[in-house]
Amino acid sequence: MTREFSRRAAEQQDAADPLAGLRDRFVITEPDVVYLDGNSLGRLPAATPDALDRLVRQEWGAGLVRSWSGWIDWGRRLGDRLATHVLGARPGEVVVSDSTSVNLYKLAAAALDASPGRRTVLVDAEEFPTDRYLLQGLAEQRGLTLRTLPSDLDEGLGVADVRAALDDDVALLVLSAVSYRSGALLDLAAVNAAARQVGAYVLWDLSHAAGSVPVELTASGADLAVGCTYKYLNGGPGAPAFLYVRRELQATLRQPIWGWFGQRDQFRMGPTYDPSPDVDRFLVGTPPILSLAALEPALDVFAEAGIDRLRAKGVALGELLVELADAWLTPLGFTLASPRDPGRRGSHVSLAHPDALRISRALIAEAKVVGDFRTPDRLRLGPAPLYTRFVDVWDAMDRLRDLVTAGRHEQLPVESLRVT
Ligand SMILES: *Cc1c(COP(=O)(O)O)cnc(C)c1O
Repeated sequence: MTREFSRRAAEQQDAADPLAGLRDRFVITEPDVVYLDGNSLGRLPAATPDALDRLVRQEWGAGLVRSWSGWIDWGRRLGDRLATHVLGARPGEVVVSDSTSVNLYKLAAAALDASPGRRTVLVDAEEFPTDRYLLQGLAEQRGLTLRTLPSDLDEGLGVADVRAALDDDVALLVLSAVSYRSGALLDLAAVNAAARQVGAYVLWDLSHAAGSVPVELTASGADLAVGCTYKYLNGGPGAPAFLYVRRELQATLRQPIWGWFGQRDQFRMGPTYDPSPDVDRFLVGTPPILSLAALEPALDVFAEAGIDRLRAKGVALGELLVELADAWLTPLGFTLASPRDPGRRGSHVSLAHPDALRISRALIAEAKVVGDFRTPDRLRLGPAPLYTRFVDVWDAMDRLRDLVTAGRHEQLPVESLRVT
């Protein structure tokens, strides 16, 4: 495989890509930067600045408090769009509100309250930190046992591992559909079925799955889920998160933060908390309208692309990345730190290397390839099928190979950074 030939092959893949035109729907200010961190902070949709400008000047600036009649149900409306285009859920099952961490707390507490007598909470030992910390807190406050499931750093948990850990003392199991570090993808339907057999709730964290893989919450029998909108969904830094509660559970589950946006008939200002009968009961306080407004244009692009086409492209981008890593980077000391089977992987791919932190930094500073570092020694590269081209993957791997071959990362100091 010569460089010229294979870059041309990547160009041909781009030429044949039915989603290629969607790249123009994003703001790309530095064409020579290869951005492979859309799984951490998605790109700015080109329509977002005008949408925000209109909102700020007209709806806020001119409309003032009168605009609330239009804003009041934005969390629900955007939730329905997410349900339809991204999450495979039914209308009325998803709302956008708060952060992923807070939503996780609310739904985990609701599931625990609905499981009297059960004493065990399960979490993947390699789960994203906020999930583990929140569960540690909940378990400690309630005198429950939090059991961590040992899982392979690269391959993730298998359904058999989950099944083996379940028994009728388990109240709640919290799992990521796509692991933040390795990209390992879990079979939602199989886990949901296993948990249902023992009467445990599964709370899915979809932060790295939403917008990269078809999730099919309804069809997989999922009860509860949360996730970010600032990663593949391109809602902007700190964009409000979503939560999903299966329709059949909404009337019985109670969340712990009793705010007025969860109240039935909110503006009657009644004397006592009486939760809304539907998914609104999982809301808390006044929604962040400026942030919600940024989500609208982001979801327009998803509605147009379709999650199945995005997944097909995501798989093809990942396959190219892995193929080039095998050919060029294995001889330089890298190993694949993600499942090799694309059917078991989300959109991002991790590569292990003993000097991954310095390589990651040098890659950004000197080779203009933006990925990120994750402990203990992982370089995480996340092609986002909405705007990443096949030539971007090719160029990133080519520049990475050149950088490490020349040892340019070795000139950087080994020091810790606030944000990696
Ligand atoms: C990014 C991410 C989060 C982030 O939660 P915040 O409350 O938005 O900080 C949570 N869980 C997982 C799995 C993530 O990848």
